[in-house]
Formats: sequence, structure tokens, C-alpha cells
Amino acid sequence: MELYNLKKNEQRVTFAQAVKLGLGDNQGLFFPTSIPTLGNIDELLEKDFVSRSVDILDAFLGEELGSDVVETMVRNAFNFPLAVERVKDGVYALELTHGPTLAFKDFGARFLAQCLNQVSNGEKATILTATSGDTGAAVAHAFYGLDNIDVAVLYPKGKISVLQEKLFCTLGNNIHTYAVEGRFDDCQQLVKDAFDDLELKGAIGLNSANSINIARLLAQICYYFEAFAKLPKDERKNVVFSVPSGNFGDLTAGMLAKAMGLPIKRFIAATNLNDTVPRYLDTGEWTPIKTIATRSNAMDVSAPNNWPRIEELLKTQFWSKSLISGVKVDEEQTVVGLKALYEHDNYLCEPHGAIASFALQNDLADDETGVFLCTAHPSKFQDSVEEILDIHITLPKALADVADKDILSKDIQADFSELRGHLMAI
Ligand SMILES: *Cc1c(COP(=O)(O)O)cnc(C)c1O
Repeated sequence: MELYNLKKNEQRVTFAQAVKLGLGDNQGLFFPTSIPTLGNIDELLEKDFVSRSVDILDAFLGEELGSDVVETMVRNAFNFPLAVERVKDGVYALELTHGPTLAFKDFGARFLAQCLNQVSNGEKATILTATSGDTGAAVAHAFYGLDNIDVAVLYPKGKISVLQEKLFCTLGNNIHTYAVEGRFDDCQQLVKDAFDDLELKGAIGLNSANSINIARLLAQICYYFEAFAKLPKDERKNVVFSVPSGNFGDLTAGMLAKAMGLPIKRFIAATNLNDTVPRYLDTGEWTPIKTIATRSNAMDVSAPNNWPRIEELLKTQFWSKSLISGVKVDEEQTVVGLKALYEHDNYLCEPHGAIASFALQNDLADDETGVFLCTAHPSKFQDSVEEILDIHITLPKALADVADKDILSKDIQADFSELRGHLMAI
């Protein structure tokens, strides 16, 4: 598989190189030179999730890595369930929340761990990643205990839920966590600074596990197909996906699924108050604001990293921007959406999924079938959900097990030289 750098088109790399580098020169994102299309989609939809995912990822990676290798990686990564639940007439929830860290990030992070393990030939690597809540946990769990790989996770101090924090900051061993005085965008900037520091990069074998890593996005394509496969056949015609978006990796994956031949009609890019993209789609102006902290903290991103990939998809597939409707959902609407799901539809959700549901239900036409993505398990946002719905949630085992453990993170300033010192000392 060949990829090119969106900021420097003459930089061409293999998948193995793209996985190891994360970002290209000038902080450019890698993008596939060509997107494979899949033959008979109906036949593919008959298969079970894992077998179908092997086919999808083999189309990208089989030639470079070997089909047997791809199959093993997919089977190791996707060893947990996912579900599609009917919420009401014409509205379905795609639940990506049943993995080891209870968020959709498990799909991408676990597949990335498989890929890195495959392409690194035992060289030492340090994964540096910024998280707005869920990536850190998914990445930390996916790499926990692996020889030769250390993981450093940056997160905005006090801006992720306590349970989110407990899930990855209590692991220790090869997992190093840093609570940064600042916001998620500051954490992302620190990661970019680290990648610009060639000496550091070489010394510790720096690698990123953010959604800028192409391996994660490829893995995420697979569950859009699963959503279709689980819809009744007579409801697969005008399918609309509503994607709760922060860094826009998930939406990119959905658009890649469409480019491969999955007949998705259109997408809703649902954001919280950090609405750079809805405003951009409206006005054509890209003007990130200072990040606002919300209940849906994993979407508190005002300068989404993956957007250039979406632009490239629109351009290379000759799609109109109207393929994507940008919808901003404010804090009050999030609450309304969460309550409506619970009280009218008997469906328990959490703020991120509720944003996608709210945006979808306001936008869906009569002849369309809507699928909203549930990106985190309600128990991960226990405080918010219990307060809004006035209910008690029992924690699933993954969370109950860590609830009483100590946080092992170091507090740091949003200052690159401080971070550099820590990374060199790992
Ligand atoms: C990361 C995350 C999102 C945003 O996904 P992007 O791919 O960054 O747009 C939404 N919801 C939850 C729960 C997340 O963890």
C-alpha cells in the first residue's frame, strides 16, 4: 500500500513506514494513493464481522504484509463484540462500546498495536499520544506489557472524567501518563513539537498512536460495514450516519468506507460547542476558537487534526461538501438528547452518543434510515449520566476493577522542554 503526504505530495511511503512515522514531513498526514473498492458488497455484508473485516483490511494491506498476516492481526485486534440496536423506527445505534476500555477507540488502538508489532522488527519504540479522554485508555491497554514498547500519554489535567483517568493512569509498567496544565489542543501541540524534534525522535523511537496514525483509521472502516450488515435489508437504501466528532478520525473512516463502495447516502458531523467544522461547512472559513470544556469531553477539540484527510476525500472522490452536514449541539441540547433517548426510546446513552442522536433525529428525512455512533459506554460518564437521568448506574467490571486504584500520573506544564526531559528519562 502506498501513501502520500498531504503537505508534501512527493513524500511517498509504504504502510509500514506510515505506521511507524505517524506523521510525514512538515507534520503532513499520510493518505492512500488509491482506495481499493470491494467487489460484491451484498456478499460481503453476509459475512460475520471479523471475516468481513479481514477482507476489508486485506484490500489495503494484503499485498504489502501478506493476507495471512492481515488475518491474524484482525483476529487478534477485534476480539470483542459490537452491536447495532434498534432505537425506534428508522433510527439505530451502532454500539462501539463493548471493548476492553469501553469506547470505540479500542478498535483502532488494538489494530494499531498489532500493526506496530508487525512492522517494528523488535526495535524499541515509544508511543506518544495526546488524549481527550478515551484514546489514552485504549492505547495504554492495547500496548500494556508489550516488550520494547513504552507508552507516554498526555491529557488535559482535570478535564477528563475520573473514571476515564483511572482506566489508564493506574496501569504503571510500560505505561507513563502525564497530566498537562492546559487543554487537549495544548497536548496535541506538545505531541507535534516532539515529532519536530528529530534528536528526540531518533533517541526514543518516537511513534504516535493518535488518530493521525493511518492504521487506526483503516480499522475503523470495518464497523461502518457492520452497521449496514445488521440493518434490515429494506432499510439499507438511504442510510445516514451521524458521527459524534472531535478530531474527525471516525468521520474520515466512514468516508473511506463509502469510497470503498459501501452505499452510504450522507453523513452528519455532530460536534459539541467546539464547532469549527459546522461553521466551516457553513461559511467556508476555518476559524478555530479557544477550546471550550463540555460534558462530551472527548470531543473538546477545536482544531481537528484529521480534517485535511476529509478535504482530500471530497476532492479525490469528486464528492460535494453537501455529503456532510455539520451540526453543533450545545450543552442543553445534549441533555435533551440524552433524556429523550432514555425517557422516550428506553435507550441508555451518554453525552457523546446523545449528541449524535440529537443531531440525527433533528435532521433525518422520512425516507432515510439513521445510524448514530455510540462511542463510549454510559458508565464511563457515570457522573454526568446519573445526574441528568437521575438514575444509578452499576459499573461494568473493567471500571469497577480500577475505581479504587491510585493515579500514577506526573503533573506537567504545557511546556515542551519539560516533557522532553521526562521522555528522555523513560
Ligand atoms: C474520541 C472520541 C470521539 C471523537 O472521535 P474523533 O474520531 O476524534 O472525531 C467521540 N466520542 C468519544 C467517546 C471519543 O472517545
